[in-house]
Amino acid sequence: MRIAEIRELPVRLEGDVANAVVSFAEHDVSLVAVVSDVVRDGRPVSGIAFNSIGRFAQSGIIHQRLAPRVLAADPSTLVDDAGLLDPSRVAAVAMRNEKPGGHGDRAGAVAALELACWDLRAKLRGEPAYATIAHDFGRTPSSSMSVYAAGGYYFADDSTARLRAELLSYAQLGFSAFKMKIGGAAIDEDCRRIEAALGVAGGGANLAVDANARYDASTALRAGESLRPYDLRWYEEPVDPLDFGALRRLIDAYDAPVATGENLFSAADVRNLVAFGGMRAHDVFQMDAGLSYGLTEYARMLDVLEEHGYDRLNAFPHGGHLINLHIGIGLNLGGCEVYPHVFAPFGGFSSACRLENGVAVPSDAPGFGLEEKRELRAPIAAVTA
Ligand code: MG
Repeated sequence: MRIAEIRELPVRLEGDVANAVVSFAEHDVSLVAVVSDVVRDGRPVSGIAFNSIGRFAQSGIIHQRLAPRVLAADPSTLVDDAGLLDPSRVAAVAMRNEKPGGHGDRAGAVAALELACWDLRAKLRGEPAYATIAHDFGRTPSSSMSVYAAGGYYFADDSTARLRAELLSYAQLGFSAFKMKIGGAAIDEDCRRIEAALGVAGGGANLAVDANARYDASTALRAGESLRPYDLRWYEEPVDPLDFGALRRLIDAYDAPVATGENLFSAADVRNLVAFGGMRAHDVFQMDAGLSYGLTEYARMLDVLEEHGYDRLNAFPHGGHLINLHIGIGLNLGGCEVYPHVFAPFGGFSSACRLENGVAVPSDAPGFGLEEKRELRAPIAAVTA
């Protein structure tokens, strides 16, 4: 087989939500189609994916640098011994003439392309992506995945009543664990919001909070003192994602679980996190393949964690979408987040997935099953037209 075309379409996120640092009103995401020369049912088989959420579309990098390199490559260098597209080889070719480090937007651009290759590989094997991922990494797929509903953003007309209603709507969908934003208001106000959320979550073990790297080191410590009595599931991204010294100071003072990693884009970054950040056995790692060069690099990050004695059950990828549900099940991770009502059309799973008591099971659609997600039908039709 060979890649006939690589297409990319920037798709705007719907809604108008904000965390402590970023408004998503202007955000878009790169939807990528890797079109193969294999024809089934009269249409070429295409792999579809996107570069997670929160880092903008990467149209320029994909169209001007990555796609031309892959399309110019000898097709035999992009496939495995069985002649099937090999996502790691595609990513390596896409990265030709790129310097190491300084990952930035390039990491998301490569990720969208690499993940679309995983979707294509699974479709060509005629199986869901989690099965292909488990097969290729020598694992047995998990039967289901623990998930939590992420939301609790700040809205212009914010109120604790609105937050309660939002979390109640997630509970009605079958979620039993939740995550909400902090850091966008004074800590006293955030504590009032947390107490309102706990009324729905039923206890701190079912509620995580995410500061989105809003705090400096001393503010993170003060916030930690206010948060500690709630016994929360975790305290996420208290400080700048690359300030491992500040993270270590917070961890030294905050004995309950801390989560971070969604803004680390390489195995080398993760090596630094575990060497200098002070992460403990009960802390949570949230690296996201869609932001960090794709699944090949994500698997290297898991290797780093396990080499340092951490358990992959403490890996909970950021992102809240179908791709990470498949990755979590295929690689036996601890769980993943879901955005049931936020970040349409990419956030959340499809109605073909089962969700009950905080546990999700994907459908058996080939690939990531993105075609089953109603909100994605029009964008996928546009990028494959
Ligand atoms: Mg986060």
